Amino acid sequence: MSAQPEHAPPPGRIVAYEHPELAGVLLCPEHSQEYPGSVPLAPGDLPDGGYCSHGTPDGHVCARAFPMKKRTSR
Ligand SMILES: [Zn+2]
Repeated sequence: MSAQPEHAPPPGRIVAYEHPELAGVLLCPEHSQEYPGSVPLAPGDLPDGGYCSHGTPDGHVCARAFPMKKRTSR
């Protein structure tokens, strides 16, 4: 399943995806493919950053970090 939703932002701007059923649960582009209907997020949608919450059956969590939009000055 590699079809892209028509409302998706330009590919280069997508930094993460939101779980289609669990609000606030983030997924990396790789794992979003396992959740049809995932919502593409641009950097502006992730002001605080986040990480991929995809868990595997054997208990590992992806935890891939997404960049924050705001820069910390210190
Ligand atoms: Zn992931």
